Amino acid sequence: MSLIKDDLSLYLTHEEIQNVVVELANRIEADYAGKELIWICPLRGSIHFIADIVRCIHLPQQVEFVQLKSLSKGGAITIQKDISTEIKGKHVLVAEEIIDSGRGLSFLIRHLEASRPASLKVVTLLDKPARRDLPLRADYIGRVIEDRFVVGYGMDYEELGRNYKDIHYLKN
Ligand code: 5GP
Ligand code: MG
Repeated sequence: MSLIKDDLSLYLTHEEIQNVVVELANRIEADYAGKELIWICPLRGSIHFIADIVRCIHLPQQVEFVQLKSLSKGGAITIQKDISTEIKGKHVLVAEEIIDSGRGLSFLIRHLEASRPASLKVVTLLDKPARRDLPLRADYIGRVIEDRFVVGYGMDYEELGRNYKDIHYLKN
């Protein structure tokens, strides 16, 4: 099915998203003052969020990309594309656009921790705690949302809609 605007109801406007991003950025900038950051961006949903948040933080920072792959729905997770820099002894922040079951992120955290970073924290724009399979809590949370599927600002419906500036709920 292709995605049409009639299928969507507005959840957060682009301006509201930017306000949430700035709030998160301000907290992170204060908490990491004097430090250098390595961001980990899980592809592909987080690219809009990472692009915006790094531009609101005035600290030395690098961005690395990682891509996970689920072998089946709810099944084992593997790394499709790994980061390409050494994170041992570095301050690492994972930027998620949304946390749902937490399965992908739990896997990623275990994978990154094996490289012994100095610190490892998680920033998420949206959090859907009702869907959590694993006990995982982000360190920085933009907005908590109810258990509904959202599209836009990097988040897709069957690969469409990532380019929408606003975030929409998908109507049932
Ligand atoms: P988790 O491993 O937490 O279940 O998976 C989180 C990932 O699933 C997110 O990074 C995102 O790519 C995708 N996801 C979870 N909830 C939604 C949603 O409501 N809309 C979209 N488009 N993707 C979602
Ligand atoms: Mg993601």
